[in-house]
Amino acid sequence: MDFVEQVKSSVDIVSVIGERVRLKRMGSTGRYVGLCPFHTEKTPSFSVNATHQYFKCFGCGAGGDVLKFVMEIDGLSFYEALKQLAEQHGIPIPKRSEYTDPETRLRAAVFQMHELAEQAFRAQLAGPSGAAARAYLGRRGVAPEVVEQFGLGYAEPSGQFLVRLFEKRGFTAEQLEACGLIRKRDDGGYYDFFRNRLIFPIHNESGKPIAFAGRALAEGDEPKYLNSPDTPIYTKRQVLYNLHRAKDAIRKNGRSVLVEGYMDVIGVFAAGVKEVVASCGTALSDRQVRLLKRHSGNIVVNFDPDPAGANAAERSIDVLLAEGMHVRIAELEDGRDPDEYCNEHGAAAYRARLDGAKSYFYWLADRAREKYDMRSAEGRVSAFQFLLPAVQRLGDKIERVAVVNDVAGYLGVESGLVLESFRKAAASRKEKTAWVARENLRADEKILLNLLLVNAEARRQLTPELRHLPALEQFETRRVFQAIFALEDAGETVSFGAVDARLEENDRELLALVALSGETNEEVLSLESGQRCLDSLRALHRKAEAAALKARLKQAERTGDLQEALRLTAELDAMR
Ligand SMILES: [Zn+2]
Repeated sequence: MDFVEQVKSSVDIVSVIGERVRLKRMGSTGRYVGLCPFHTEKTPSFSVNATHQYFKCFGCGAGGDVLKFVMEIDGLSFYEALKQLAEQHGIPIPKRSEYTDPETRLRAAVFQMHELAEQAFRAQLAGPSGAAARAYLGRRGVAPEVVEQFGLGYAEPSGQFLVRLFEKRGFTAEQLEACGLIRKRDDGGYYDFFRNRLIFPIHNESGKPIAFAGRALAEGDEPKYLNSPDTPIYTKRQVLYNLHRAKDAIRKNGRSVLVEGYMDVIGVFAAGVKEVVASCGTALSDRQVRLLKRHSGNIVVNFDPDPAGANAAERSIDVLLAEGMHVRIAELEDGRDPDEYCNEHGAAAYRARLDGAKSYFYWLADRAREKYDMRSAEGRVSAFQFLLPAVQRLGDKIERVAVVNDVAGYLGVESGLVLESFRKAAASRKEKTAWVARENLRADEKILLNLLLVNAEARRQLTPELRHLPALEQFETRRVFQAIFALEDAGETVSFGAVDARLEENDRELLALVALSGETNEEVLSLESGQRCLDSLRALHRKAEAAALKARLKQAERTGDLQEALRLTAELDAMR
């Protein structure tokens, strides 16, 4: 057996997904449902099918086999997911090279380059060229053991340091150009991406360095912070700085703390508030929020008090609420940023600030009060409208109404007006789904298709006739049927996955809808019910043919073509 098949047949998709998603069994049909881990929802549209070993979300359209699930949820390549599943289930992995594709080999090289770079940067910070960087850290109050813990480093200014290191280690030109740490000059030569910068390594959830951020040390060096570009092992929008160190504390304390910068994370963490993370030089993304949400649904946002920080906080609130997080905003007195505050006032004071953080809408209301003229009724209404989208994002209806009233009171807006605009906004708000189920499939079409997928005897008995059944041409799922026929012709095993693999996107959705939505009661999937479907389709076809003949007969009579009329009459009689 092929190794991929071997892995897939030795793991159960229900137990693999069940470790990540709370699944509920639906009857005795091998079907399970739960809340989709790939989009935010309140009612389950995520379905896992034990018979077909397949998952499908009817809300966002995500779907696939067990490998696809592991790839999506852990952000792995196909071969990495295969390897992970095999290892977890004690399945011996055949000789490596056979199961490493070029992409996986490249990723492995880029991982290795990052480990080498991290070591080299650390050595440079400790060495003579790192004096200025060490002095900067000293001024910011970062203790040597914290430097060590966070793996901080220094990139020297020559621009040839990593180039030489990587070339000496025998990395190829393709690897150099893919790693994100080296740039290519117009004349074909290479130079280091980070030069004369204090280096912050960025790690994935298993603690491996996958990118770096570099802070400028020389006056006038722009930008102040430089970040690794996206590479085969790093996607900025999907990584949170410090998550691998913070996640245990996030679970234990039931909240995460989101700050803006690397120095803030380090300062806050070193002070003992370990549930702290930052987005890596980007606006907070939905993917990043979902990473946090796996550990806790509560978050305290503590951005810099300057206008840029406040705007970033406002945008982050939007993303956080859209993902269903409970959001509070911490503010620090005297316009301190989190790092400075911890340095000056200590961890206990900072923790008290976090614990006392106000719910996001009071913070937004304060923002609105600053933005609009609260003395005029017009200004108050504008302020309220500024707040409305954020309030609308609240998933819970009762909480929403309570918050609306609360905010209206806080802003001094009439409650009648509040309810009016609230109702309007609610009416215009529609559930957004990437994928909408199509509902013009016939019941017999669904029964036959399900039957052919799971019942070999039914396939043997029904397909010879089904192949030539004219009614099949009218089915929206005809290409799915044809894929089953093609598999049989090729002497291959008919399975959900095999059929799925032969289809284009639209037809795959139809297959999922028919086989996984649980609409067709699996108790009716007997050979007999298949025969009945076939009978009724046959009868339907005869009726259609007869109707067509009658129409032609009428036409012949009208035009006085007696010979044709007689011939058609005889044909009609023969059909009865
Ligand atoms: Zn979904």
